This record gives sequence, structure tokens and C-alpha cells, in this order.
Amino acid sequence: MSELLYTPKNAYDVFSEEELKAAYDYCEGYKKFLDNGKTERACVAYSIEIAKAKGFVEFVDGKKYAPGDKVYVNQKNKAVIFAVIGKESPEKGFNITAAHIDSPRLDIRPNPLYEDGNMAYFKTHYYGGIRKYQWTAIPLSLIGVICKKDGTTVNINIGEDENDPIFYITDLLPHLAKDAKPIHGEDLNIIIGSAYDKENKEDKIKTAVMKLLNKKYGISESDFQTAELTIVPAAKAKDVGFDRSLIGSYGHDDRVCSYPALSSLLSLENPEKTCVAVLVDKEEIGSAGITGMRSAFITDFLLALCDGYNSRVAFKNSAAVSADVSAAFDPTFASVYEKRNAAHINCGPAICKYTGHGGKAGASDACPEFIAKLAGIFDANEVMYQFCELGRIDAGGGGTVAQYIADRNIEVVDIGVAMLSMHAPYELASKTDIYMMHKLCKAFYENY
Ligand code: MN
Ligand code: MN
Repeated sequence: MSELLYTPKNAYDVFSEEELKAAYDYCEGYKKFLDNGKTERACVAYSIEIAKAKGFVEFVDGKKYAPGDKVYVNQKNKAVIFAVIGKESPEKGFNITAAHIDSPRLDIRPNPLYEDGNMAYFKTHYYGGIRKYQWTAIPLSLIGVICKKDGTTVNINIGEDENDPIFYITDLLPHLAKDAKPIHGEDLNIIIGSAYDKENKEDKIKTAVMKLLNKKYGISESDFQTAELTIVPAAKAKDVGFDRSLIGSYGHDDRVCSYPALSSLLSLENPEKTCVAVLVDKEEIGSAGITGMRSAFITDFLLALCDGYNSRVAFKNSAAVSADVSAAFDPTFASVYEKRNAAHINCGPAICKYTGHGGKAGASDACPEFIAKLAGIFDANEVMYQFCELGRIDAGGGGTVAQYIADRNIEVVDIGVAMLSMHAPYELASKTDIYMMHKLCKAFYENY
């Protein structure tokens, strides 16, 4: 009578030996994606590079496209849309996956440079939801661009190469931490140097730092005001555990869904419907801004694809997977989960009918007809999945880009890899779940 009852499945019960190997092999590509795309800008550049190798070309608004054509739209180097044109009319709807490529981090402020206590520092402003203490006493990289008034751009990437120096935020020694206060945003100051020339009179270390930067990049202090520099963890993606079944990395949220959304799209040849992968910026701070999910550039691209067909019908018939992570049950912190409705590691991508907080506030609560149709497609294509909520009622909550897709009258549900230590500088996800997310996106693109 076991069919009467629902029992969650674990990939290690279900996967064949070949499929396990395929999953682990797939994750080698994912680790490269992680290490090459620590910021949204780096992620856009790397995504376009691998898509171009698969025949994708830059989309030209107004140009006629034929089934099988592969295009991309680069939005300000910080968000990107990829599409494969389908055989069906746009009025049959688009099959869309949407994931985000920004992650919590520390941004460098417009006037960042100061010296104190024989050291030079950069002031930072944290981006997204972080637990501030986690960013102290770990190796950090500096990545970004300095846009100069003469129209040129200087690319900065220090800390990622084995031979590079790294950057550092101090923490209080335990010996003096008896009455310690929590780490605040204004405490997250980056140490950038301590040396100087004897000739320097005032601001000796600041001047020494600017001399170095001027020599290498041709910049002066005011150029920071027109820069976008971010501090991210310097650590690379690594296998975790004796069995190598997990991956530790910065930025799994949400590259762990961005990569499957992209890799599955890149594997499509002549799909029935036009398939679209949207990789957006700014999800971690509310999806606002010109590169976020709320920006018109996404609607404009879909309208351009409609090309003379009725766009209202196209949108109404479209479907989307809002591909974003969920929290996996963590036995060490069991009290914030409701075990029956929590996602579990190695049980497949987690389908979240609604997110939100305090009585589902702010949630895009997906239609049951839609989720049932998707689940049927996943069953027919041997895709594992689980249904979950983020955590215990009133323990907190969260949101995704789903609501901004629903605003466009496109049916949508959140599905993503369930992970541990979300938003930490080094997060954890499982290889079978990551691979299954690729399989899920592909089944959705090809069969919805
Ligand atoms: Mn996310
Ligand atoms: Mn997040």
C-alpha cells in the first residue's frame, strides 16, 4: 500500500551509477561558473562567453528570427537574457526560467579611503542580507570597475589569482571580548595597506596607496566616486565531505539555479516553444533598478520576440520557473524549521508554492493547476523534486523574483536547489540536487 502514502525520495536511493557520475561531472562545469562569476558583472561576461561558444549571438531589435535561432541581450553588463527561438508561434507562450546572479557582499563606498592606527582602510556598505560577523577574519577579494570621466573603464580583480594579495576585516580577539558588542555595518572596514615612503608628510599611508593605484591603474582618489567595486570572499568552490557529495562556495544563491537555467537552455535544439533564461541582478535588494527583475528590459525583450503577434496572448500563455534557492533542513538549527514542510538535501529541487513572511505577505502564491501540470511533466521525465516552505511560521521569511514575473500575467512558481548556510560567505549545496535542477529546467523547456 506504499503508493497511498507520500515518502520523500533521496537521490542516493534513486540514481543509477551512470546518473551519479553524470551529476558529479556536471558539477565540474558548475564550479568553474562559480569561480568565474563572483559578481553579476563577471557572471554576465562568463555566461555570454559559454553561450557564444554554443552559437548564441547578440539580439537585434527589429530583426526577424527563425526557429532554432539563439540570441542574448546584455543589460548594462549586469543582467543577461538568453533565448532559443521555438517552432511554435509566440502566442503559444514562452517557457521562461529566471534566476539571479547577484549575491550578498560588501560594496566599496564613494569616498572609501582613510588611514588610522598605522593602517589604510576602505569603508564598505553591505549589500543584501548578511550576518555581519561572518565577514570578519576571512580572505577577501576586490572585484569591479572604475569608470573614468574620460570614458575609459578600468577592470579590477585582486585576490582571485593564487599569487594575488587578499583583503581583510579584523575581528576582536577573544581575550578582550568580555563585553563585546555585535559587529555593525560601520565596523566592516577593509584593511588595504600599512606601508609608506619616508618622504610622505601627511596622510602617509593613504598617499602611498594612491601612488600604487595611480601607477597601476592611472586613477586618483576621486575616481572611486564613479566606480563599482565590491568585496567578495576569496575562497574558491571546493568539494565537501569524504565522499565529495557536496560543494562549498561563495554565491551558490543564486548561481546554483542560474547555471542549470543556462546550461539546460544551451542544450536545446529546435524547441517547440521559444525558451528564455533570464539572469538578473539586484534580487538581493528587492529586484529594483534598471538591471533587476522589475525593469522593463525583460518585458521589452519578450515584446520584441512577439514580432507582430498578439503579445497579450503570448504573455497569458507563458510559464515561468522562478529558479531560486530554498533553505535545506539543518539539524543543528532544527528549531527554525518545520520538518514535514522543510526541504532536505539530496531530495531534488524544492518547489515553493509561496514564499513571503507573516501569513504569506508579499508572496506570489502559485496556482495549483499550474504546479500540478509541472509536477506531471517532472514525473514523466524522471525529475526528482520536493515541495517545501522556507522555514517555521513566523521564524522570518523571504522573497524572490516570482512576484515580478506574475505582475506581467505570466504564470510562475519558485523552484530551486535547497541549500545550507544561505547568504554566508561560504555556502553549501548538494551535487545531486544541482544536477537535478538542470534536468528539471530542461524538462520544463521541452515539455511545458
Ligand atoms: Mn536567491
Ligand atoms: Mn538570497
